[in-house]
Amino acid sequence: MLNAKFYETYYFCNVIKNTLQNQFSMARALDEFHGSGNVAYLIETFPKISLFHKYLYFVIDRIYYENLNELSENKSKHLPIEWALNFHSIPHISFQSYIEKNESKTEHNDDLIYNYMEHLSEEYDQLLTHTVEEVFYILFQNRDLLMEFNLMVSGALEREGLKKVDNDLITKRGRLKRGHIPQWVKRAVYFRDRGQCVLCNKDLSGIVNIDNKENYDHIVALAQYGFNDVTNIQLLCKECNQNEKKAGEAVTSNSYQKWYK
Ligand SMILES: [Zn+2]
Repeated sequence: MLNAKFYETYYFCNVIKNTLQNQFSMARALDEFHGSGNVAYLIETFPKISLFHKYLYFVIDRIYYENLNELSENKSKHLPIEWALNFHSIPHISFQSYIEKNESKTEHNDDLIYNYMEHLSEEYDQLLTHTVEEVFYILFQNRDLLMEFNLMVSGALEREGLKKVDNDLITKRGRLKRGHIPQWVKRAVYFRDRGQCVLCNKDLSGIVNIDNKENYDHIVALAQYGFNDVTNIQLLCKECNQNEKKAGEAVTSNSYQKWYK
């Protein structure tokens, strides 16, 4: 179970959304994630720490560190990271106590903060992992955003041209091979999409209509350099799946069943 605290979680969700909607202005930062051959290191078949998790780690870590820099100019003795650690009940030495012990060794506030963060690496990892899990929990429900993300990484894969990479996971044409979809992926997607085709809302539970079978569709097709990732899968009925394959374009729906009518 995820014991969600929702501390700044929506702020991070919003930043993630903005990075995906402003990829052009984010180009340099994003290049570190998927550019210059880095995308090759992201190839795995349905890892539980999904490709999107890795992106969340990448962005949220940057934000935490950017906020540290801002604070170091104020010469404040309390860091925002401490509020976050406190909120999550992660035991740690306070920056104040750390300064008292170490001030003589280092003069610059910036250095002190970075040394403090180094000292906190385990606690910080714990905080980062928890934050990533909370943000993932919320954003996994936003299929449009997941499609945006998957289009971004598949675009990088296409640009990098993986034909040269010697890898069992890649076809001769430089696409990712179809990976077996594990049961946990199917269950996650089935529950998120409420057992309905996301495009035509047909019930696929087999309770009402035994003819309808669930199809687990790659939102960005493998032929379009899509990934075998839980965030790139959606639930479709047989007809919509066939129509979608013919069209070839990535498609999803942002229509959701309300909690109540
Ligand atoms: Zn359908």
